[in-house]
Amino acid sequence: MTLHDNLARAAALKLPSHAVIDGALVAAKSGKTFANTTPRDGSVLNQVAECGPEDVDAAVKAARAAFEDGRWRLKTPREKKKIMFRLAELMERDLEELALLETLDMGKPIRDTRSIDIPTSINSIRWYAEALDKVYGEVATTPAERLSFVVREPLGVVGAIVPWNFPLHMACWKVAPALAAGNSIVLKPAEQSPLTALKLGELALEAGVPPGVLNVVPGFGESAGQALARHMDVDLIAFTGSGEVGRKLMVYSGESNLKRVALELGGKSPQIVFADAENLDEAADAAAWGIFFNQGEVCNAASRLLVEASIKDAFIEKVRARAGQYMPGDPLDPGSVAGALVTEGQMKRVLGYVEKAKAEGGTLVAGGSRVRAESGGFYVEPTVFANIKNTDTLAREEVFGPVLGVIAFKDEDEAVRIANDTVYGLASGMWTGNISRAHRVARKLRSGLVWINGWDACDITVPFGGAKQSGFGRDRSLHALEKYTELKGISVTYRA
Ligand code: NAP
Ligand code: MG
Repeated sequence: MTLHDNLARAAALKLPSHAVIDGALVAAKSGKTFANTTPRDGSVLNQVAECGPEDVDAAVKAARAAFEDGRWRLKTPREKKKIMFRLAELMERDLEELALLETLDMGKPIRDTRSIDIPTSINSIRWYAEALDKVYGEVATTPAERLSFVVREPLGVVGAIVPWNFPLHMACWKVAPALAAGNSIVLKPAEQSPLTALKLGELALEAGVPPGVLNVVPGFGESAGQALARHMDVDLIAFTGSGEVGRKLMVYSGESNLKRVALELGGKSPQIVFADAENLDEAADAAAWGIFFNQGEVCNAASRLLVEASIKDAFIEKVRARAGQYMPGDPLDPGSVAGALVTEGQMKRVLGYVEKAKAEGGTLVAGGSRVRAESGGFYVEPTVFANIKNTDTLAREEVFGPVLGVIAFKDEDEAVRIANDTVYGLASGMWTGNISRAHRVARKLRSGLVWINGWDACDITVPFGGAKQSGFGRDRSLHALEKYTELKGISVTYRA
């Protein structure tokens, strides 16, 4: 497949534009649409239904009705599984289309959407389909004359609000376990990237997910998102996004029906390189990939590189030499390893952080500028700063772009102290050949994930989520089912 092929296929695509509510593809009740753009060249891709509170209300009502009459909830596990497997098969059938939609919509390279985003999304659907009858209840250890058992029941209506950096992938992290647990869902994709979520809603209907069980309401966070999070008949908001919006969601919950809120938020994740690492070249590969993959628009990006002072200069040189491999190209070109940042605003924000790092005394080692401006798209070079202090803005705030800050440390204690000196706690990692140090440091790092000798060692079987202000609740693994279910204790008293 060449760039030329992809351009032709992209031009022939039918772009989803309607909300999916109660089994139908519908326009917003107001008739409003918004212009969905592509960061590839800044052009408008299509007009998408701009759902407002009235559309969200219709979607929640449809979801509630579906939940109450049990058209999904009460299906046998075998029936549910069959439908979810069918959905995974349809996603596989349309993999190339989904990959193109995702790449166009948010600018990441087609190479990644084809090999990572879409396959990982399909895997989530399959994994939770397989899991749905594997989680057993419990029998409690009550005294004789009483049998108490504990069952997990679906919550009801789940509102899922997701970001633009992995649009389908994040949606499936929520939709798959929520469906497997028997809930009905209203999914609100990010305004920057609605296309694959809409397509997912369409495919779910084709697969046989009953009407009203998976609704998709594209629109803006302040209107559609807020209406969903304030709705009196939504039982949970499962959110991935920024801390700023996460805080609002907790307020909305408190001011409405005390719905549960599960937050997957940002990070400022440290990757620590000790001088005793067995393979510094592998560590340098991971240092570059950890920050430049997906243009740095990754919640668990390894944005703080902590390097032992004795190897600092040599190691920075290794990272600098690798940065050029992530020079952005046309996202539709199968050879591109990096693409465009999601919007012009995001690009300006990232370049703002570059200027700030310079002003605060950071040493620019690589990159730092916009590139491919002639395309009309929003591309930034892979950028590396040395001599960053952990108090600098670059070390404190989430940039969400391809900008790495390198911080030197003297010894293990200082490495741990710097790593933990952040409000975030999503992921951390280290490179060391000393097994005792690896275990010792892993237990001291305050984060939801710790990766030793390999960054982003992700798998559906390992829970994903953060400590501190990176949020609470977990995606992936059987633990994700906990947030989509309610525990019920049922006790039978009998004569012994
Ligand atoms: P965002 O601005 O927080 O938006 C996330 C979602 O919330 C979007 O769908 C957005 O809608 C919606 N939203 C905005 N304002 C809202 C409101 N007042 N009420 C309800 N919903 C509202 O985040 P983003 O810029 O899309 O994504 C980047 C962030 O996500 C980063 O902080 C990143 O670290 C985080 N992230 C975390 C994880 C994780 O698993 N921990 C994974 C990926 C990304 P609109 O876009 O339509 O406004
Ligand atoms: Mg878009």
